[in-house]
Amino acid sequence: MGRPAPQVSSAHYDRVVPDCLFCGIAAGQIPATIVLDGKRFIAFRDINPQAPTHVLVVPRDHFPNVGSLAAAGGGLLDELVGTAREIAVTEGIEDTGYRIVFNTGQDGGQTVGHVHAHLLGGRPMTWPPG
Ligand code: AMP
Ligand code: ZN
Repeated sequence: MGRPAPQVSSAHYDRVVPDCLFCGIAAGQIPATIVLDGKRFIAFRDINPQAPTHVLVVPRDHFPNVGSLAAAGGGLLDELVGTAREIAVTEGIEDTGYRIVFNTGQDGGQTVGHVHAHLLGGRPMTWPPG
């Protein structure tokens, strides 16, 4: 009798996904400038910042994108946005405003396939986006 197979669906993994950059950062295997190290989330500074504050807020569990996170339910998406707001407060941009972005899929410009919210602020944002 071997061990039972891990509970894995195509949308959600409870463990580190091999070759996933953000799973590696969440597991402490890949260095990052950590802003928040929580039970369900990690946040770190974007390596290529697009604003004075540019923080990525990432669930520790692997979901490919915000759609699959929303579909999973369980309150993680609410908590993700709430966590981004808490970081906006600690970054001192709550009053001046900020932008939360979920790039999703190829046309959305997503380059890392582990859901992450970009928290951007510290300068006026332009619209429309490029
Ligand atoms: P997206 O293109 O929306 O998937 O966002 C991925 C973001 O991850 C980009 O803004 C990258 O600059 C950022 N990024 C890539 N590698 C790292 C890393 N090792 N540490 C921090 N941020 C990273
Ligand atoms: Zn991952």
